[in-house]
Amino acid sequence: MIVVLRLGHRPERDQRVTTHVALTARALGADEIWVSTEDHDLEKSVRGVVSRFGGDFSIRTGVDWRKAIRSWKGTVVHLTMYGERLSDALSTLRDQDLLIVVGAEKVPREVYDLAHRNISVGSQPHSEIAALAILLDRHSSGKALNEDFGGPMKIVPNPRGKTVIDSREEVETRNPSKQG
Ligand code: SAM
Repeated sequence: MIVVLRLGHRPERDQRVTTHVALTARALGADEIWVSTEDHDLEKSVRGVVSRFGGDFSIRTGVDWRKAIRSWKGTVVHLTMYGERLSDALSTLRDQDLLIVVGAEKVPREVYDLAHRNISVGSQPHSEIAALAILLDRHSSGKALNEDFGGPMKIVPNPRGKTVIDSREEVETRNPSKQG
């Protein structure tokens, strides 16, 4: 079980980034995302992707982050550029339930203390999306990217155009010049 906990989401500013945190979590093998601020539009957009592209990824918003961290039965991993190196920590994270905490702006000091592990993905500032993607990809040894989600819409890898199979309609192959 892997759950991503997104802290500090501001619906008016972070809609796009938090949506991408959620979609990255889903695409790279997490089971759920919990967002500390209530946001029904965010829930709707993530559930829309799940219903089209499959899997059983779920989203909850308005989650009490302190309670979530304190009551987690597995390992709480806080991603921060100040933490220990991912390459040193990775092998110790296997075979356990992970709650992966990512911030938006400044993360409260308390999170560093409550987390079992503070882990950095390189010691440079970058992004919660990048940090999460790299952690999940390495944690699955690259396998998560090839997962079949079994949804009604399926993208067939194509070196030029877009090939999308929609089992609710017919097979559609679009010419690259008409792509949006
Ligand atoms: N300055 C903020 C702070 O003091 O926490 C960080 C803001 S950063 C834009 C948002 C989030 O990206 C962080 O909370 C952290 O989860 C993640 N992040 C950014 N760089 C990272 C790195 N090198 N390693 C791990 N996580 C990182």
